Amino acid sequence: MAHLSKVDILGGGPGGLYTAILLRRTFPDLDVRVTEAAPRGVTWGFGVVFSDRALDFLRADDVETHDLIAPRMERWQNMTLNHPEGQVVLDGIGFAAIGRLELLQILQGRAEALGVEMRYGHTVSDLSDLTGDVIVGADGLNSLIRASDPVGFGETISHMSNRFAWFGAKRPFDTLTQTFRRTAKGAMNAHHYRYASDMSTFIVEADENTFFAHGFDRMDEAETARVCEEVFADVLEGAPLVANRSIWRQFPKLWCENWVSGNRVLLGDAVHTAHFSIGSGTRLAMEDAIALVQALKAEADVPAALAAYQVSRPPIAKKIVTAANTSCAWYEDFATKIGKPPLDFAFDYVTRSGRVDMDRLRALSPQFMADYEAHHAARAVTDPVGKDTPGAREIGFDKAQHTNCSAVLWDNLERNPGKLALTGPAGDVSYARLCARAARWGNAFRAQGLSLGDRIAMFLDDTPEYPAAFFGAVRAGFVPVLLNTLTPPDLLKFFVEDSGARLVLCEADLAATVAASGLDAGDLPVIAVNGAAEGARAAEDVLAGQPEDLAAAPTGPDDMAFWMYSSGSTGRPKGIVHLHHDMAYTQESFGAQVLKLQDDDICFSVPKMFFAYGFGNSVTFPFSVGATTLLMPGRPDPGKIADLIETWRPTVFFGLPTLYTALCRSEGIGNRDFSSLRQCMSAAEILSEDVFSRWKALTGMPPIEGLGSTEMLHVYLSNSAEEQRLGAAGKPVPGYEVELRGPDGAPVGDGADGVMYVRGHSSAPCYWNRPDKTAETMQGDWICTGDRFVREDGYYYFQGRADDLVKVSGQWVWPLEVERCLNEHEAVHEAAVVAHEMADRRMTLSALVALRGGVEAEAMQLQDHVKHALMPHKYPRRILFVPELPKTGTGKIDRKAVADMLAAGG
Ligand SMILES: Cc1cc2nc3c(=O)[nH]c(=O)nc-3n(C[C@H](O)[C@H](O)[C@H](O)COP(=O)(O)OP(=O)(O)OC[C@H]3O[C@@H](n4cnc5c(N)ncnc54)[C@H](O)[C@@H]3O)c2cc1C
Repeated sequence: MAHLSKVDILGGGPGGLYTAILLRRTFPDLDVRVTEAAPRGVTWGFGVVFSDRALDFLRADDVETHDLIAPRMERWQNMTLNHPEGQVVLDGIGFAAIGRLELLQILQGRAEALGVEMRYGHTVSDLSDLTGDVIVGADGLNSLIRASDPVGFGETISHMSNRFAWFGAKRPFDTLTQTFRRTAKGAMNAHHYRYASDMSTFIVEADENTFFAHGFDRMDEAETARVCEEVFADVLEGAPLVANRSIWRQFPKLWCENWVSGNRVLLGDAVHTAHFSIGSGTRLAMEDAIALVQALKAEADVPAALAAYQVSRPPIAKKIVTAANTSCAWYEDFATKIGKPPLDFAFDYVTRSGRVDMDRLRALSPQFMADYEAHHAARAVTDPVGKDTPGAREIGFDKAQHTNCSAVLWDNLERNPGKLALTGPAGDVSYARLCARAARWGNAFRAQGLSLGDRIAMFLDDTPEYPAAFFGAVRAGFVPVLLNTLTPPDLLKFFVEDSGARLVLCEADLAATVAASGLDAGDLPVIAVNGAAEGARAAEDVLAGQPEDLAAAPTGPDDMAFWMYSSGSTGRPKGIVHLHHDMAYTQESFGAQVLKLQDDDICFSVPKMFFAYGFGNSVTFPFSVGATTLLMPGRPDPGKIADLIETWRPTVFFGLPTLYTALCRSEGIGNRDFSSLRQCMSAAEILSEDVFSRWKALTGMPPIEGLGSTEMLHVYLSNSAEEQRLGAAGKPVPGYEVELRGPDGAPVGDGADGVMYVRGHSSAPCYWNRPDKTAETMQGDWICTGDRFVREDGYYYFQGRADDLVKVSGQWVWPLEVERCLNEHEAVHEAAVVAHEMADRRMTLSALVALRGGVEAEAMQLQDHVKHALMPHKYPRRILFVPELPKTGTGKIDRKAVADMLAAGG
């Protein structure tokens, strides 16, 4: 033990005070004096953080001090990053904090109790004022002791270019939080955390350009605080910033090679600094104190002890200081990183020291890493449509604005919370209630332990629960898979397995299908909505206690948002993946340019929500403008549709040709009241002239025809209320480019038959797990529709599928052309024509025909009709009469079933 009679400590910060405490504990007879410039009870700054294990060192060394400090600390398990495009929680990155003044007062009290002499309000300007055998320089960054021999101490000092100002805020934050903001004058950051139940530290940081652009160099503390309050208004929530010598500074990077010069020894900020972003400066100063006192205790004399301190302590401190400098360097250009999607930004942040590998991170932050890895798995899906397409320019679409498609609903919270979002037999729901319900669903999905990008199978009918669950899922970053309610059990099993869904949400009435599907309910939770079902959890149980607000997950415009499945009429159904910006694109194109809904419209789409056409009609378009949607659960029939129109008086009606046909031909339809309608739309197939005219006669307006696909999410070719060509699918909807390409792939001119390609930002980037089919359809940033069209006068006329041209009697025929011709016959209700191979390998045409009620016709009459209207060789060689044609769940003719019926019909 070194022989000492008096030690003078300059500086009553944490380093100086703790040195004094340890000295008095180790050398009870030693005179220890601390001189501090600030008066008692005054210091600079606000709270200080320690990493959550930082106090362990104190517990091991000095349990009394530890026990005084530990209960006064605020603690939290997670850290929060507020990125401009979403919040990321870094679980498992815990910290503890205490007010700097409170910490100092605890240390002062303990030092005085141990007999340390304290001199407050005494600035030392001459070293002769200090008379100890050893003089400890714990006098912080501008150390007088270090300045007494800068060369001997071997100091290097440089400054970061970022500027920071240390404020307090009169509100407690939940966790240690970093808030990054883009301002018109550059990016800014705030490090904030509570250090008492009603106070937080709030350090604001800006890079050099932003600092000068804001004119902070010319502002005083009060003005700076006011501007910073504006920039961070959302997180401060009205709490004022409190200044305490909160002047703008550049963080100094100080390091001394030598910590000892004669009998003068340095510790803490006097000898090294550690950027506040790693919360280690205070701990380093206190650990320096421990090392110094241990050396004095271990060595026989003072020079040997100081030499031992010089050997043992700097290498350990250097590691932390290097980590702090790396962290600090990350902040120097955070403005360039802020453009990354939130999870990538957070990953960059958390790995900034370069010392944490993926395995360590997985152990440390399991939830964050699960989200990050799922986000990257989902990112394997990339949007091939380039940023600057002519279509996007035409409608002024800015993809970057659409980071999470839940905005389609949530924007109504500000716009018109009290307005009815939904109406109909399943109940009325305002936008505010729908957002609250959606939030509860999103929180409930999270509570099920799902990770970002996880799929949720939705086997739901059109009731208010559907949009609520859908928007809750997408807002929380999960991916709903919208399934046809007519899906049989084996196909349902395929959908769930193919999509890798982690959860099934099912209509209670459809639970029997789930039960019959053979899906293992043990592995796959099933939640029943709108009623109870055996083997399924009730929605109300799952939603119980879930909060009614929900921040959007850190998704980006190109992240997977939701899927639909192709109908499978031409083979195994394909999972069609849509991205977060796709809904907004359909709204800004078809919605805003053709449909032009008003906020007082009531939309009624008979095609259901699981169908891309119905989804746009019932969800995207009305919610985007704050209009109302009339929902019709259950199977549609003409009587029920007419009843709903009379009762709920929708203004805009959406149907399909088969539905308009059924409505026009249903009994008593002429006496129904359709006077509420101001616009009717039709899509998916071409309307016959007959139905077009009949509907016009019934309602005073013809259906406006358009053509879309699930791959494009909605309509990309359309007629309009102003201009309508019968038999044409219309003109390209603004925002979409349409090309007809000939067999050599080159564009064809007007009047020539070509395969249609479409480009626009709502297109699906891929079919899930089907690279073969993806390559056929997604060709670069164009979608090959597989439909043949002819363009005349800017309008596009459907000619058939690219792959269904067949040679009959040595001449080319398109079965669809024959089908349309049969449909024009007055006796025919509906017809479907397919080509098939005969035993001798020649091709022939057969037709399945449903006649109008009460009408009789012979096959020969229909064959003659085709021979006369088209060409003699084009007539269907065989006609099978059926009461009704088979349909898919989306109301389209089920061509596979037609072929099967014709084959079975002999
Ligand atoms: C914005 C900011 C935020 C920070 N946040 C954290 C954090 O969250 N966690 C953390 O661990 N660290 C943090 N730090 C670092 C931490 O404050 C310092 O590392 C720590 O205070 C060092 O303690 P010290 O005792 O060495 O020096 P100081 O705390 O600086 O104490 C030195 C003392 O010496 C006195 N003094 C100086 N010269 C004289 C003189 N000539 N005569 C009399 N007295 C004198 C001063 O008045 C002062 O009280 C932060 C630093 C900054 C700048």
